[in-house]
Order: sequence, then C-alpha cells, then structure tokens
Amino acid sequence: MQTATAIDALLADVRAELPQLRLLTDVADRESYRLDETAYLAAGLPGAVVLPTETAEVAALLRLASRHRVAVVPRGAGTGLSGGAAGIEGALTIAVTRMNRIVEIDRDNLCVVTQPGVINAELKAAVAAEGLFYPPDPASYESCSIGGNLGTNAGGLCCVKYGQTRDWVLGLEVVLADGSVIRTGGRTVKDTAGYSLTHLFVGSQGTLGIITEATLRLRPLPGPRATMLAFFGSLEAAGAAVAAMTRAGIVPVTLELLDHETILAVDDAHNLGLERDAAAMLLVESDAPGAAATGELDEAEAAIRAAGATSIVRAADATEADWLRQARRLALRALERQGTVRMEDVGVPRARVPQLLTAIERIAAAHGVRCATFGHAGDGNLHPNLIFARDDPEAERLTQIVRDEIFQAALDLGGTVTAEHGIGAARREWLPIQRGEGAVAAMRSIKAALDPLGILNPGRVL
Ligand SMILES: Cc1cc2nc3c(=O)[nH]c(=O)nc-3n(C[C@H](O)[C@H](O)[C@H](O)COP(=O)(O)OP(=O)(O)OC[C@H]3O[C@@H](n4cnc5c(N)ncnc54)[C@H](O)[C@@H]3O)c2cc1C
Repeated sequence: MQTATAIDALLADVRAELPQLRLLTDVADRESYRLDETAYLAAGLPGAVVLPTETAEVAALLRLASRHRVAVVPRGAGTGLSGGAAGIEGALTIAVTRMNRIVEIDRDNLCVVTQPGVINAELKAAVAAEGLFYPPDPASYESCSIGGNLGTNAGGLCCVKYGQTRDWVLGLEVVLADGSVIRTGGRTVKDTAGYSLTHLFVGSQGTLGIITEATLRLRPLPGPRATMLAFFGSLEAAGAAVAAMTRAGIVPVTLELLDHETILAVDDAHNLGLERDAAAMLLVESDAPGAAATGELDEAEAAIRAAGATSIVRAADATEADWLRQARRLALRALERQGTVRMEDVGVPRARVPQLLTAIERIAAAHGVRCATFGHAGDGNLHPNLIFARDDPEAERLTQIVRDEIFQAALDLGGTVTAEHGIGAARREWLPIQRGEGAVAAMRSIKAALDPLGILNPGRVL
C-alpha cells in the first residue's frame, strides 16, 4: 500500500504539523523496530518510526496516515510473541513507549488511569506503594508495556486465579484509524451502555485502533505468597496433578509446569539446583490471606502427592520464593541459548492438560523435532517451544509440521491455537480453521467499519 512517495509525503506533513515529535528515519534506528520476539518470522523494515507523547499527537498521526494511505504498526515494548508489532516494509511504526505516565491512582474507586507505554512492573510497583494490586503479570512483566498487554489481552502467571488483562479493564481511550478519539468506559465497576467496545479493542492487536489511555481495575494488595515446587517422574503424573487440583476446587494464584527439557535448560543457564532427572516440575503458589496460604498449599500438596510427585520443596521465605519463581520466568531465555525457539501458545479446557501434554510429546517425537514445554498449566495454557537451527530449511519445515499437528490436537481437545499471545502474523491461517468462516466474516465487517482504508496493522490477525 505505502509507496516511497506516500511515506515521504506523510513524513513531510508530520514534520510540518508536529515539529516537536520524535521521528526516527535512520536505517539503523528503523532496524531496531523490525522485529518483535518472533525472531523466526520474516518482517519488514519500517519506513519511519514515531514516538508520540500524547493522545493529540497519535490522533494527528492517524489522520495524516489516512490521508496518505500509509499503513501503521502500533507498537509497545516489542516483546510480543506473534509478530503483531513487527515492522511492515515502508510502513509507519507508532511506538507508544514515551506515553509512559501513570495519570492517577484512584484509591477511592480502586482503579488506575495510565498511558499505554508504562511498563507492567512499574505500574504494579506504583499501585503496590499505595497498598493496591494490579494482577496481570506476563512472565515478561519487567519489559512489556500496558499498551501491549491490552493489545494482546496478555495472560501470565496468575490467570488461574485472576484472569487475563481484559478482566481488569474498565475503560479505554482509543484513537481510531481516521484520527478521531473515543472513550469506551470509565471508572464505574458496572456499565452496560451499548456494545462492549472495551472488550473488542482488548486483544485486537492494533488492528482496530491505538489505545492511548486505560482505566484499570485494582484490588487490595494480598499478603506474601506461599510457594512450592513439586517434581514428577512423568509428564502424565504432573498433568494428572493439575487436573486433580482443578477437580478439587483448589485455586492457587500460580500453577505453572516445566517439562524435563525446560528444567535442564533453566538449570544449565542459572544453576538453580533443580531436580535434573525429573520429567516435570510444577510451581504452585498461594496468595490467600495469612495462614490460609499454607492451608491452600497443604491441600495442593495432598493432590500432588496422590498424583505421584517424587519430591516437593517449599520456600522458607520471600527470597527463596522469588528464587523458585525465577525458574519459571527464565524459561524462554534459557531455551533461546540452544537455538532458534518457536514458542507456541495452545490452550485446552483445564481437565484436558494431561492429553495435551501427551499429544505434544508424541507429535514432536514422531517428527524428530526438539520440543521443550512449559506454561500456565492451571489455565490449560501450554507453550510448546520448538527448537531448531535457523539455517536448516529441513528443520524449519519439520517445525512447521509439528506446529500444525499440535494446533490440530489442541482444537480436537476443544481448545485454541493461541491462549494469550494472539494470532498476529504468526498464526493467521489457523483463525478460520478454529473460529469458522462465519465468525471471521463478522470480524472482517468490524475491521471494515472501524478501519475502512485498512491502514491499521494490515495482515495481522485477519
Ligand atoms: C520472556 C517472555 C515472556 C513472556 N511471557 C508472557 C506471558 O506469560 N503471558 C503473555 O501473555 N505474554 C507473554 N509474553 C509475550 C509479550 O510479552 C506479551 O504479549 C505482551 O503483552 C506484549 O507487550 P509489548 O508492550 O511488548 O507489546 P508489543 O509486542 O509491542 O505489541 C503487542 C501487540 O499489541 C499491539 N499494541 C501495542 N501497543 C498498543 C496500543 N497502545 N494500542 C493498540 N495496540 C497496541 C501491537 O500492535 C501488537 O499487535 C512474553 C514474552 C517474552 C519475551
């Protein structure tokens, strides 16, 4: 869509109308906005990158991009795992990282109003200083932005108890493709006026509008967590422990799984002293108040022992708990030391985690592809990580086959091809297979109504 003339004409208008705006046009600068964390996907070099600081600038940028028919890629911190913020050749990347102000922490109404470029961990820390809690915590929480979390409907390590990002959004300010600015909700806890546009924009991966402000729900800060690691002799036993906890109605704040390959990679990289011969490990945490946290872990431990855990370790204090938690948070980076990692994101109804684990193991072995699986087992959301040598075309081909078979297995179990990372550019061909042509046609109608020129993140999601 964007010709050299169109982007040049757009940039001339941008310089004239927004002389104060930070605009990057050097090739080296633009290169650093080519990829997100999907290094295995081909991506384009942005024609330019802009870093607005306020809503009015985003509005002017989209108005001008519409006028010149130039495609726009909304971008947060670029940690996404679906290619959603990766560059499009010659397009304008609008990175909202400088819109990084927390506008107001509203104690009386248990909410926070924030710009989208605020880093998740910084928002958490700011509200925690007021005795409040913003639960969504992707494993990347120290580097990903609230805007990106909203763009992807990010999950994380506490969804089993607190849900995904969408569950914590009261209202948004959104700039539409033509540069107009709308609000979708506010500080009221309950609001049923019209269609829920808030829920529509959350997870739309920058294809329907650019989120420039969000009002997020908070709750009182829970006390310190009780933390436990459990090791198993087989993946099936770990899967059975997850299913048993769900059946027993135990709702820990965190219920994460690491398989043997992941345990080894994390331990090799960070010397955490994990049980290296274990086939699987579960991280279980409770943030129930006071002594109830220990009680909840006692119940979890009973279910885990019954499922055949070989050993169980409890954290003695907060420092040790943090150390145990690191084993899970460091998983992707540890695996990346071993080759190119294609991280997938399948989800199934929780009771079917054991079947999903078995299917992933069987499919990867059948094609001789290395696969390390970890993830949010308590949500039924697992990340099979397919590890291959990037310059080996046969390995890439086999990886693609394994991915497709795992996707089909997840759908056969009543699940999804992406639970929290999004369709983005990486999984588009599976959207009609999962949702059906009718649902995709409805999505296309919404896209056409909100972005008739198709300038917002074209080729992503749909
Ligand atoms: C080590 C590691 C661990 C991770 N762990 C998790 C995890 O546990 N759970 C999880 O869900 N994800 C996880 N992720 C993926 C990633 O961190 C999340 O998807 C995160 O929400 C992306 O935020 P970001 O700021 O980097 O967004 P980006 O990657 O910049 O953008 C993500 C998407 O949102 C859109 N977008 C960004 N800002 C806006 C905006 N203001 N308005 C509209 N659209 C916008 C972009 O167009 C893009 O489609 C992990 C990634 C890494 C590298």
